[in-house]
Amino acid sequence: MVLTAFGDRACVPLAVPPTPLHACGMPRTWDPESLSPAKAVRFLLDGNQRFLDKASTHQARTFQAELADQPQRPFAIVLGCADSRTPVEILFDQGFGDLFVVRIAGHVVAPSVVGSIEFAASQFGTRLVVVLGHTRCGAIAATVQAIQSGNGPESRNIRAVTDRIAPHIEPLVRTGGASAQQVLLRESMRAHVRASVDHLRHGSRLLEELVLAGRLAIVGAEYELETGRVHLLDDVPNEGGGTDPPSG
Ligand SMILES: [Zn+2]
Repeated sequence: MVLTAFGDRACVPLAVPPTPLHACGMPRTWDPESLSPAKAVRFLLDGNQRFLDKASTHQARTFQAELADQPQRPFAIVLGCADSRTPVEILFDQGFGDLFVVRIAGHVVAPSVVGSIEFAASQFGTRLVVVLGHTRCGAIAATVQAIQSGNGPESRNIRAVTDRIAPHIEPLVRTGGASAQQVLLRESMRAHVRASVDHLRHGSRLLEELVLAGRLAIVGAEYELETGRVHLLDDVPNEGGGTDPPSG
């Protein structure tokens, strides 16, 4: 028996077989037992509170061989930064199989990142995507510095990161004027999170289709290194359980 976000029963294969393809060609799945976005957010924030209270329920994250035979059923997809101080499963107090996590410096929305999120959202019935920024982000700071100095990183691979952040924060940095650097960095991080959410909502036909059908919510959040607390930056659609019928 595996304790999951779905209760204390063992994971079971999807109750509803996969339905035909999305218009863009990706498989379409619908799991009537998926958590609603609102409930998924509540699971995350409750987990963050347990983390803060040092009341973790996953302190013994032991190997579970039975997971190999079970389908994935993550209740949330999290796009976070690769920063070593932001371990997503730990700060949300979640365990094996609970979260589908994509981490990359500056949580930039590169094509392979969009593809990873499309894969999870279309295959596992997961109904929530969280873009998780954090304070004192090195990728944001490097991008701010590049804009202010006019000199980007020498490595074109590092520029592949900062060039994906710069358009989201450049107006803010150029008008930031006398803002204290930490204030500017935080506001830049929030602007980048919001732009990343918008990119995922509208830059992917598959994700946009799921959002319009009410099957998926994409929200922004920030993690404070200083306090350990996660704050949502968006409202989450308020709805009942995860039993909405498939729309087609
Ligand atoms: Zn970072």
